[in-house]
Amino acid sequence: TEINYDDNNIFARILRHELNADVIFENEHVLVFQDKFPQARVHLLAIPKGRYRSFDDFSAHAGQEEIVSFFQAIGDSARHAGLTHGGYRLVSNCGKNAGQEVPHFHMHILGGEALGPIIS
Ligand code: 5GP
Repeated sequence: TEINYDDNNIFARILRHELNADVIFENEHVLVFQDKFPQARVHLLAIPKGRYRSFDDFSAHAGQEEIVSFFQAIGDSARHAGLTHGGYRLVSNCGKNAGQEVPHFHMHILGGEALGPIIS
């Protein structure tokens, strides 16, 4: 649990059901939901339920069960959303150089159409 984690960030509020989200998948460790401002025909966000500010915190501090559960949930959600055959992209912005806006670790799942190059 991260000392400098902001408990009032948007995703923390979604986890506490203070804000609504269109949930695709949920278990003890993970929540997957629709991005409110989609950048592709399918744009999902996967978040662990733990208090991790970014991938840096998650990779340094999460337990093996949380990490496995997180990646399994991403694969399951992508298959469930029909992204497997066409293909899809996973992205996580970590910190300020990447332009991370919400300070709760999340992975973007993008697909449903041909995506442009990741750096254009
Ligand atoms: P970041 O820029 O931190 O990598 O991505 C944050 C993502 O959160 C953006 O894609 C943005 O559209 C999404 N987002 C911001 N506010 C909300 C919200 O209130 N609900 C949902 N579902 N997504 C949000």
